[in-house]
Amino acid sequence: MFVDSIPKHCYSLLESTYKYLVSHGYINFGIAPAIKEKIPAEPSKPHVIVIGHGLAGLAAARQMMRFGFKVTALEGRNRAGGWVYTKKMEGGIREGVAADLGGSVLTGTLGNPLGIVARQLGYVLHKVRDKCLPYSFDGKPVDPDMDMKVEAAFNHLLDKASSLRQLMGCFSVDASLDLISKLSLAFWDQDGPYDMGGDHCFLPGGNGRLVHALAENLPILYERIVNTVRLLLATRFLRVIWPIWGIYEPQGITVPEPIQTICTRWGSDPFSLGAYSNVAVGASGDDYDILAESVGDGRLFFAGEATNRRYPATMHDAFVSGLREAANMAHYANAGALRIKINRNPSKNAHSCASLLADLFREPDLEFGSFYVIALIKAERGNRKPASTSLTLKSGTSKLKADNLKQKLVRRAKIMRNGNGKLG
Ligand SMILES: Cc1cc2nc3c(=O)[nH]c(=O)nc-3n(C[C@H](O)[C@H](O)[C@H](O)COP(=O)(O)OP(=O)(O)OC[C@H]3O[C@@H](n4cnc5c(N)ncnc54)[C@H](O)[C@@H]3O)c2cc1C
Repeated sequence: MFVDSIPKHCYSLLESTYKYLVSHGYINFGIAPAIKEKIPAEPSKPHVIVIGHGLAGLAAARQMMRFGFKVTALEGRNRAGGWVYTKKMEGGIREGVAADLGGSVLTGTLGNPLGIVARQLGYVLHKVRDKCLPYSFDGKPVDPDMDMKVEAAFNHLLDKASSLRQLMGCFSVDASLDLISKLSLAFWDQDGPYDMGGDHCFLPGGNGRLVHALAENLPILYERIVNTVRLLLATRFLRVIWPIWGIYEPQGITVPEPIQTICTRWGSDPFSLGAYSNVAVGASGDDYDILAESVGDGRLFFAGEATNRRYPATMHDAFVSGLREAANMAHYANAGALRIKINRNPSKNAHSCASLLADLFREPDLEFGSFYVIALIKAERGNRKPASTSLTLKSGTSKLKADNLKQKLVRRAKIMRNGNGKLG
């Protein structure tokens, strides 16, 4: 057995590593039967209120229950899932066809925790084919020539934007990607390097199946509106999408004229006020980190797709952020139980190290592409030449951080029952 090959004196290390991985949701998360069994029947730890049950809230509430906390789960809508909403279409030849009106595609399944949850449930994912015919608003296929032209123009625009960004250097922080959007030229694609690998997949029957499984046995109180916590607003998603043709027609299946149509209104929906987050002019990846910061000395924590700079605007991001905040809440609670004061502010020494580093990267010795080169002699702050000069590479995005410090949002949660009586 694996454990037998580990020297006895390392057992405590093994134990700590295991606990760390579990508590941070890196392993043993989700809804496999063996994991569900670990939810204690009687909670033994403090009371936690989880507000909002999109994928982030569902992940956080489930994980907190697993850790033995007492959870009260509040949701403003009369359903869980938030931006993940599968609508069963009624009538017609194929009764019960499902359409995802929000989060639909698992964008990359390698390392995607929702892919793991789907596997735990025994669901088979379907690969989104490379060839996916686009359809215009009148329901007719788009002319292939036109499609190619639009794609070429789009790629050309992106190439231009990329060269412009290089030319503008740090001034690109104040510029938008194009004339019509407010996307930051400098950082609109800051999450690009973290894209999940593997195929893009969808779940037959819709992602509502994942939501349903994650919400099972959670003590969610529906139509409980928390009226002063503000979610990050983002762009409005105004288009109606017609994924069914794109998926089925390439397989030779004729899709008849629609018998029922639904137009999403995420923009005017008071529980979402838009679609997913984006990096607007003047913002950067740092803003995701700021939104993720807890306030009130471990009393109020924030999860959600807009709190993780790596995978924003995705379903897996929301899920991962819920696991992350569950780990943070448990950490604070455990530290509180041990009466340890967690120092969230860096020490004076750490501040001086940070400013020293910031100074170094402000005037790099060499600059190429988005990399900056610092000769170590600078760090020594003297005229003496080092025997050999080491070089440090840093991604360009960090150079701009200093310009983007934002005032932290301090938010207060006031919990209302249907806007009437106070709950807590
Ligand atoms: C049209 C569209 C298409 C998308 N396509 C994809 C895709 O293909 N792939 C992908 O990975 N992602 C996609 N996404 C993004 C993905 O769906 C989201 O990133 C993710 O679902 C966000 O989850 P969340 O838990 O952070 O937020 P939400 O899902 O918004 O959850 C927040 C919850 O809080 C509740 N709430 C809000 N206000 C209150 C209040 N005042 N009181 C109580 N409860 C409240 C809401 O009702 C909601 O249930 C898409 C999103 C949209 C809108």
